[in-house]
Amino acid sequence: MDSTEFRKRGMEMVEYICNYLETLGERRVTPSVEPGYLRHLLPTEAPQEPEDWDQIMSDVEDKIMPGVTHWQHPRFHAYFPAGNSFPSILGDMLGDGIGCIGFSWAASPACTELETIVLDWLGKAIGLPDHFLALKEGSTGGGVIQTSASECVLVTMLAARAQALKRLKAQHPFVEEGHLLSKLMAYCSKEAHSCVEKAAMICFVKLRILEPDENASLRGQTVGEAMEEDELQGLVPFFVSTTLGTTGSCAFDNLTEIGNELKKFPCVWLHVDAAYAGNSFICPELKPLLKGIEYADSFNTNPNKWLLTNFDCSTLWVRDRIRLTSALVVDPLYLKHGYSDAAIDYRHWGVPLSRRFRSLKLWFVLRSYGISGLQHYIRHHIKLAKRFEELVLKDKRFEICNQVKLGLVCFRLKGTDKLNEKLLSAINESGKLHMVPASVNERYIIRFCAVAQNATAEDIDYAWDTIVDFANELLEKEQH
Ligand code: PLP
Repeated sequence: MDSTEFRKRGMEMVEYICNYLETLGERRVTPSVEPGYLRHLLPTEAPQEPEDWDQIMSDVEDKIMPGVTHWQHPRFHAYFPAGNSFPSILGDMLGDGIGCIGFSWAASPACTELETIVLDWLGKAIGLPDHFLALKEGSTGGGVIQTSASECVLVTMLAARAQALKRLKAQHPFVEEGHLLSKLMAYCSKEAHSCVEKAAMICFVKLRILEPDENASLRGQTVGEAMEEDELQGLVPFFVSTTLGTTGSCAFDNLTEIGNELKKFPCVWLHVDAAYAGNSFICPELKPLLKGIEYADSFNTNPNKWLLTNFDCSTLWVRDRIRLTSALVVDPLYLKHGYSDAAIDYRHWGVPLSRRFRSLKLWFVLRSYGISGLQHYIRHHIKLAKRFEELVLKDKRFEICNQVKLGLVCFRLKGTDKLNEKLLSAINESGKLHMVPASVNERYIIRFCAVAQNATAEDIDYAWDTIVDFANELLEKEQH
């Protein structure tokens, strides 16, 4: 494809994307296909000869689209939102066009510097303490874009592990490193995302999963007691991963209490995973949810969830960038450059070497919407969630299972888990709505999230009417 054809096809693609997004509501939200459906539709070998673009695009519509789950669909209420907006799509397009690989400052100075500046912008808008900002006078911290929240948790755990091992080695110079590693203990709540467990597996450290309170919030005393017990057993607490806005029910760990407990354990790294909820802290009235952040060593949130930015864009800030990078620095000659000492090289801030120009899309989003536009978007979703909560509360057959603070409502039919499983599977099979379950306080609950960028009150009412129809049918059947 030459640039003349790219111009033409590019315009057609923009047209296709606009049509797709404008008419999305006419499609089924979830596909009705079985595993392996695509194998039967596509050849087993890549084509030997070039194919015609029109033919490729016609296969997109006929073969790919029938197997797509439409995350931007007005009837999609599962998981958390998958950020998407035109400025962000244009940012990715430009980044792909530039096609630089910004692993070091020298590898593409603008790629590095824009990331630093935009992360400072967003960090300030969220209300992070100054020590997380790279360009603040005297600050030792800074922000970086990672691929996912899972990666943010992993790299902070790796950094905490490196710091703890260094300290232990200094205290016990003749003890084998493997033995020291076997003593390290990380902590999180049962409600933490499974990525914490995965990070502990990769880091080869023990993880103690703690019980939250009845509101699914991890409390300081629970953390403090667990760490004291472990120390008595000869173990070494080194990392606590807390969550603001849990995946299951958007609950908030008590960061202030946990931070206070950690004063007794000054070497323990405190991480805050706010993958979804963190974005909302750009609204002044929601900043109280960030209380206790002054104790944290690191914080992550995903603009690719709830800030109109397309995947991938997971932002991580650390209090002390040297503590992060010293766990990840490998410095072969071919990657060194004349400004290594003066500039940020983001390859030391994460696992991969190569990095896309991801800050462009976040920059476009922040500038096109402005903080006020993004605040409006967040507030709109919260308003819709509140509307849904009110509808649920009016029907005495249902109950609300979380404190609805943001865009997620957890609800269930009063009755058994089995009954709720049947309800959700009937709704999802119909393709009329898509929601997913979670287990909160050992109970099966249904999660309803405000997701679509331009969702309306009518979408919420439609969703509730659909749920009620299925519940009526199910409860009637159950009576016979
Ligand atoms: N942490 C929390 C609180 C989440 O809700 C999620 C996903 O929903 C994750 C981590 C994992 O996110 P990612 O897919 O970016 O790794």
